[in-house]
Amino acid sequence: MHCPFCGIQDTKVIDSRLVSDGHQVRRRRECNQCKERFTTFESAELVMPRVIKSDGSREPFNEDKLLGGVHRALEKRPVSTEAIDKAINHLKSQLRATGEREVPSKMVGELVMEALKNLDKVAYVRFASVYRSFKDLKEFGEEIAKLEK
Ligand SMILES: [Zn+2]
Repeated sequence: MHCPFCGIQDTKVIDSRLVSDGHQVRRRRECNQCKERFTTFESAELVMPRVIKSDGSREPFNEDKLLGGVHRALEKRPVSTEAIDKAINHLKSQLRATGEREVPSKMVGELVMEALKNLDKVAYVRFASVYRSFKDLKEFGEEIAKLEK
């Protein structure tokens, strides 16, 4: 790893710890030449299944898209970034654990709803209302009633 300050290759690790629920290693490094310190993150590159859309077309699993939807649902909600990361990591593990090379987008949506339900009820309802596009207020009310139980 080249030092981002002086470009030399001679750096050493001064601290190493697990972060993100053990899915990443955070390393603090120091350059042996200029003595600047910087941080690197290491995580396993694992293959995510491809997503089968409702029209039958396939697309690669898109984490940014997933995060976008989750963050939109959680906007201004009292949920920590750490809790969100943890939920997303869990969701990705669940998808990989299927052992499938392709999964229906519906399954991804259901997993997101499940994750949001545990994180924040309001975010869950927001996401579900967009995702399931509730046909009317009655259906929406039923969903909320289910949550209140
Ligand atoms: Zn350096």
